[in-house]
Amino acid sequence: MKFATKAVHAGVHPDETTGAIMTPIYQTSTYVQEGVGNHKGYAYSRTQNPTRHALEKNIAALENASYGACFASGMAAIDCIIKMLNPGDEVISTNDLYGGSYRLFRTIFEKYGIVFHFVGMSDTAEVQQKVNENTRLIWVETPTNPMMNIVDIEAMSKVARKANAWLCVDNTFATPYLQNPIDLGADVVMHSVTKYLGGHSDVVMGALVTSNDEIAKEMYRIQNSSGAVTAPMDSFLVLRGIKTLHLRVQRHCENGERVAHFLRKHPKVESVYWPGFEDHPNHEVARKQMKGFGGMISFNLKGNKLDEATEIVKKVTVFSLAESLGGVESLIGHPVTMTHSAIPKKQREKMGVVDSLIRLSVGVEDADDLIADLEQALA
Ligand SMILES: *Cc1c(COP(=O)(O)O)cnc(C)c1O
Repeated sequence: MKFATKAVHAGVHPDETTGAIMTPIYQTSTYVQEGVGNHKGYAYSRTQNPTRHALEKNIAALENASYGACFASGMAAIDCIIKMLNPGDEVISTNDLYGGSYRLFRTIFEKYGIVFHFVGMSDTAEVQQKVNENTRLIWVETPTNPMMNIVDIEAMSKVARKANAWLCVDNTFATPYLQNPIDLGADVVMHSVTKYLGGHSDVVMGALVTSNDEIAKEMYRIQNSSGAVTAPMDSFLVLRGIKTLHLRVQRHCENGERVAHFLRKHPKVESVYWPGFEDHPNHEVARKQMKGFGGMISFNLKGNKLDEATEIVKKVTVFSLAESLGGVESLIGHPVTMTHSAIPKKQREKMGVVDSLIRLSVGVEDADDLIADLEQALA
């Protein structure tokens, strides 16, 4: 089946008792058993719930994977993967990692004896340098936040295979519509479902998918043991959101392209970070592994004044000043005072997160209105 058909149909089927076309919200904690050990596959909702189950099958199908698991947040999904490791195991990740992942790795898992390395991942040689006999996991994010760097997933999967390590890709920014890491050699894919999969800024959720039997067994064991599962109501909302994922992402890409080109021509704008530009340093890799370039864009201002940037994010009226991304509505953010405020100035500036950097999550509104809004805010 092709993507759009899977988005609408995978994992779901009309309710057998009533014919209801939409998967019911099975708002139940337990299930009546006919005899001891004789149940219909559902015994307790931490372990399994039919609404969640339908969503897990749907997301797995979108990523061309065999197994899916949904969690209470993206962070809970990442937490599940790292819990598969043992003290002394080493993880190699990128130095412009999502801040929450960095915090989880450094402040929670380091004290359990897991070792994390952070390197520039656009160059596989830098990753190769950190590989040793303890390397168990390579953690990739692409495109990255907020600088929109691109990592070559296929090249990284070769490094992981040679190191006898797993490759996990945080595919939140790209979505399964634009990029399928399992097809490129990844062992696990992680999503903050909160973003594009949910798509309507009304749910916090995470997901993991894999086709590896060993990883799947551990994934379900930890999901059930640690218990950071997602609720039936939220599962229903995301099932509904995903039915239009392909349509939404197409529009995010179209609007993103128009906004990126508008910004690039604007006299007050210094640089625009968007992988669709031919002179983006990893444009060729993006073109090879993605179907489109998405609606996430960052830009900075000539003169690099902090107060000018904070003025612009206040002056917009169609864009909303908020954290998060991936919803139908356009959001604007200022990484230095918002998402990246905890990172020391020197370190963040090395990444490109300068005082005037502004990040956009371009929504599915009319692009003319979005451009007019940025125009008046920049004026
Ligand atoms: C938001 C986000 C996460 C964390 O997901 P939550 O649902 O907020 O817990 C992880 N990775 C990326 C790239 C994100 O944007």
